[in-house]
Amino acid sequence: MITDTIAAISTPLGEGGIAIIRVSGDEAIQEVDRLFRAKIKLADAASHTIHYGHIVDPDTNERIEEVMVSVMRAPRSYTTEDVVEINTHGGVVSIRRVMELILKQNVRTAEPGEFTKRAFLNGRIDLSQAEAVMDLIRSKSDRAFDVAMKQAQGQLSTRIKDLRHTLIETLAHIEVNIDYPEHDVEELTNQYIQAQCGTVISSIDRLLKTASEGKILREGIVTAIVGRPNVGKSSLLNALAQDNKAIVTDIPGTTRDVIEEMITINGIPLRLLDTAGIRETTDLVEKIGVERSRSALQEADLVLFVVNHHEPLHDDEREWLQQIHGRQVIVIVNKMDLPNHLDLSELEALEQAGTIRVVKMSAMLQEGVDALEQAISDLFFTGKIESQDATYVSNVRHIGLLHKAKQSLTEAVQATEMGIPIDIIQIDVRSAWEELGEIIGDSVGDSLIDQIFSQFCLGK
Ligand code: GDP
Ligand code: ZN
Repeated sequence: MITDTIAAISTPLGEGGIAIIRVSGDEAIQEVDRLFRAKIKLADAASHTIHYGHIVDPDTNERIEEVMVSVMRAPRSYTTEDVVEINTHGGVVSIRRVMELILKQNVRTAEPGEFTKRAFLNGRIDLSQAEAVMDLIRSKSDRAFDVAMKQAQGQLSTRIKDLRHTLIETLAHIEVNIDYPEHDVEELTNQYIQAQCGTVISSIDRLLKTASEGKILREGIVTAIVGRPNVGKSSLLNALAQDNKAIVTDIPGTTRDVIEEMITINGIPLRLLDTAGIRETTDLVEKIGVERSRSALQEADLVLFVVNHHEPLHDDEREWLQQIHGRQVIVIVNKMDLPNHLDLSELEALEQAGTIRVVKMSAMLQEGVDALEQAISDLFFTGKIESQDATYVSNVRHIGLLHKAKQSLTEAVQATEMGIPIDIIQIDVRSAWEELGEIIGDSVGDSLIDQIFSQFCLGK
């Protein structure tokens, strides 16, 4: 297969100490050689070596940049093609000039994700591994990074391949027995199908159980901060974020838009939403109904409900507390530094009933932040998610396909119970096999592949 040669800047644009231009393809080495002046020709260089020299304009012989160039020969490279990486000084101008020269050769700009796409098309990695590469780049916490790393290394793929192997065995067994009309054989075959499909279904269930945890690791616990104006929502956000992206002010309701802040608590990413700007009406329940806060609340995995230690509980706050069913709510009694005017026993009763947790704080004095962080970790990580070697499913596409495969297998099992002919059952088992295959990119169409890789950043 002949592939054209592609190039892209693989480091973030802007000023930096160094920038890397990656070139990949059959002609990568010879195309860069035309621009490279050093003691050695890249064509003669051994694989996985790096060389000092200059990039020159071959037309004028003008020196453009001082560079280090590394050579990775096929198939031992990121794309499995010949890869050349040019390390330049990080300046925007120098990168642009080198890149322009490269693109004057027989080289075109890589599309976003095209290097990884080639690694996939050339069979070095499967689709779930490629998707993990993207997650790695985007991961916002150490834990999310670890999960993506495991997926990139093929841990999920191995699990999926095992399951598909079981299904292929089942299909082979069905195939052999399809032509035997004796009742005994059919009975045994049905039992076999039930056992095999049952095993795969429970494995899928175990994978799906990790899905919500995986999503949290990837996207963060969506946390809405709600409460009456002036109780200290923005101050709380600030105390947690420990910087000043949200504007704190004395005028009630000045923060009108939902402010978002991404923070990490004990390695757990939190997406904090300050749903301020609900001041117009006096009824909190109605205020919470305001479009923005409502959607933020609906999305929320966790609600931080802030009340004021310095004032009695308002009726609308009481009403709101009665309306939370099955939500994870931490009630923050804020302004503990001011004299008490709040009947704490009321909240403590709710806490005893297990409906809410109560954390006392002074956002202004940054007191109680540790207790809050502890409460959040306790809620979400009661030991389970600590197990570092678990395979997490965190990709929405994978989760959807796992559900589909489970559905197909459940139908197969039901069909055996209903005495439906096994050649019909075979169809369900085959669909499950294909659906699992889509996770690792075994039976996916070009358009899906394009769509997945187009989400990558340039140069990866
Ligand atoms: P929001 O409207 O709920 O977002 O409330 P803000 O965070 O904007 O705070 C409103 C006012 O309460 C500001 O003047 C804050 O300085 C003050 N405030 C916030 N937290 C505390 C606290 O813990 N103690 C005291 N004494 N004042 C606080
Ligand atoms: Zn505010």
